[in-house]
Amino acid sequence: MDNHKVLRASRIGTLCDRALFYSVAGAEEITSEKSQRIFEVGKVLEPVIVSWLRNDGWNVKRNMFDSTNEEMSLSLEVAGGTITAHPDCIISREGGLILADIKTMNDRSFRSLKRDGTIKSHPQYADQLTIYAQALRECGHSIEQLAIVALNKNNCEGYIDYFTFEPERYEALKERAERIFALNETPEQGDRFQTWCCGYCGYSHLCELCKKDTAVGDESVPTTDNQEVIDAVELLSESRDMEKAAKELSDEAKAVLDREVHQQGIKSLRAGNLVLILNEIKSSRLDTTALKKAHPELVSEFMKQSSSVRYDLKEVA
Ligand code: SF4
Repeated sequence: MDNHKVLRASRIGTLCDRALFYSVAGAEEITSEKSQRIFEVGKVLEPVIVSWLRNDGWNVKRNMFDSTNEEMSLSLEVAGGTITAHPDCIISREGGLILADIKTMNDRSFRSLKRDGTIKSHPQYADQLTIYAQALRECGHSIEQLAIVALNKNNCEGYIDYFTFEPERYEALKERAERIFALNETPEQGDRFQTWCCGYCGYSHLCELCKKDTAVGDESVPTTDNQEVIDAVELLSESRDMEKAAKELSDEAKAVLDREVHQQGIKSLRAGNLVLILNEIKSSRLDTTALKKAHPELVSEFMKQSSSVRYDLKEVA
């Protein structure tokens, strides 16, 4: 029996040590249908994104190690096992070579990549590319620049985020892999662990730790593995982000229109294929605070009780 331990580079940035251990041990992974579809859509879009890159003037060496070429399986030997690597592509335009990975993302993920950059917003991708780069460097390729080529699945916006290969990052990943390879039993989650990753973990059917309660303030809340609920919470969080983004856009637009249209006394105008009409709204508002102060008995006489649920979200580590 072959006991040689293997870890895929695409896994090395997994936040939970325990999930990494299961992966190395070859435990059965159960992937939700939704996750499989997301993965498949990404694969289908990859050649399309490559063709867009080429249209933009990039030279793209895609899957330079294709399945007919034995160089396809890059690997790094570390103490206790092997890390395997399968880079997406190497791109170049004017300067040197850039090792790139293609990712399709939802709007929230895409916006955080643009705002914060790969290393902060998607460190697992930076880890993956760091391993690929080291494997290429050990084969004699000169790779310093790394990039995530991202496509926003909501609106087809593209974005390339560049960052530099960091030897220290590779050393930390190598140490992590060696530590996982050396384990003989399932560890705790490790210091990178974040509770949300249990919801996407293919090993949750094996793992008892994800069922542990989480402390939020003084309360202890249980963890669900109901994927429908996890998706709904994720959706609610996305919708809150979108509301916030929409409010920011609207405020930005109104500031310009107040200055350039309203304050100039313009009542309507055509802008491109849209017509803007300014309608003055007059409204009256009941000052409930003053009313309560002046006539508290009257207010309580007409007060009707009703109840509803407000969903609050808190990020936990
Ligand atoms: S279910 Fe959670 S704690 Fe368990 S292995 Fe997966 S990510 Fe780690």
